[in-house]
Amino acid sequence: MMGIKPDLLCWHVVFFLYFCLSLASDIATEIADYADVAKRIIDLAVFGAAQNRSYRRLADFTDTIGNRVSGSENLNMAIKYMYNAMTQDGLDVHLEPVKIPHWVRGKESAVMIVPRVKNLAILGLGSSVGTPPEGIEAEVLVVQSFEELKHRASEATGKIVVFNQPFVSYGETVAYRAYGASEAAKVGAVATLIRSITPFSINSPHTGWQDYQDGVKRIPTACITVEDAELMWRLSKRGQKIMIRVTMAAKTFPDADSFNTVAEIKGWQHPEQVVLLSGHLDSWDVGQGAMDDGGGAMISWEVLSLIKDLGLRPRRTLRTVLWTAEEQGGVGAQQYYNLHKVNISNFDLVMESDLGTFRPEALQFTGSDAARKVMEEVVKLLAPINMTKLETHGEGTDISPWMQAGVPGQGTEKHCST
Ligand SMILES: [Zn+2]
Repeated sequence: MMGIKPDLLCWHVVFFLYFCLSLASDIATEIADYADVAKRIIDLAVFGAAQNRSYRRLADFTDTIGNRVSGSENLNMAIKYMYNAMTQDGLDVHLEPVKIPHWVRGKESAVMIVPRVKNLAILGLGSSVGTPPEGIEAEVLVVQSFEELKHRASEATGKIVVFNQPFVSYGETVAYRAYGASEAAKVGAVATLIRSITPFSINSPHTGWQDYQDGVKRIPTACITVEDAELMWRLSKRGQKIMIRVTMAAKTFPDADSFNTVAEIKGWQHPEQVVLLSGHLDSWDVGQGAMDDGGGAMISWEVLSLIKDLGLRPRRTLRTVLWTAEEQGGVGAQQYYNLHKVNISNFDLVMESDLGTFRPEALQFTGSDAARKVMEEVVKLLAPINMTKLETHGEGTDISPWMQAGVPGQGTEKHCST
């Protein structure tokens, strides 16, 4: 939680300044003229009355609501909470309806029974089917890649496939969590256990989304720990037989009603033009969702609070969107895009924070050369918090539809973990 403050700061300054600009010919000079405004925002967030406000808001929110998995009553409570809180903050707030998945984990467990009895920590993956009540007991095939699974396809029939893929990066390695179940089902597996997508582990499995392919049998799928995946890999390399029993009561219910939560400050000169900043309100069910993505949601709100507190009026509309059902594959964000893409030429920049909320090191930006030139000048105004680096590859699940359509995008700042 330490360091949340400067993070807020760079968002606030960038959001406000980028969209105050009238894009005059001498852009660098015009941007530099905002140094005083930038300093006021920085001072309010770092030293003034707003110091640590986002942290306090985040603590109150997560302590009161807890986890907010898609389709749950907690998520409904979270949306009401934020609607009321942002309205009381004096912002213009409304809700936009979205139908979202409703998956419930249920009780789940796994135990290795051969060559010895050992409980395995598991977390079922979002949208997984359950097992029969007595569980699925089967021999294990351990593989390290999709390639290996293909080569050993004939060995997979009737087995539980354990994926022990090495961690390369989240973006690359997550394919095993997303597609492992369907790939294993294609070669006749009865369930899959997948090494958690993380470089570090203290016997902690990680949950997340997975995608069943249409027309492929749906088999139960869960993540196991790095340690247990490695253990079974070593056993199998020695030619030892492994048996596991996995039991999962996971269930999918009909889609539930939910909302994207939208708050904004209207621009005085070009109210129809929008800079969008965002985080997602839903979370997984096995934590508090403080960093994923309570922090991103709170700093997206805080941007508007600071601008309002200082009595600043942006030229263009600053719009905060708190997405619903991001963890289920960006459902709320996709719905928002479908609804608003008709006005895409009015969306000047889309931003998202969903990689944790710590001390920022750089801004990650994707856009045209002209847009990048503007951002290069804007980040100079963040010198008081030592955050003047502009990197490439802005990204985020929830802003990706806009970015794919050519709107400049800015992902979460790169963070250090202090
Ligand atoms: Zn997230």
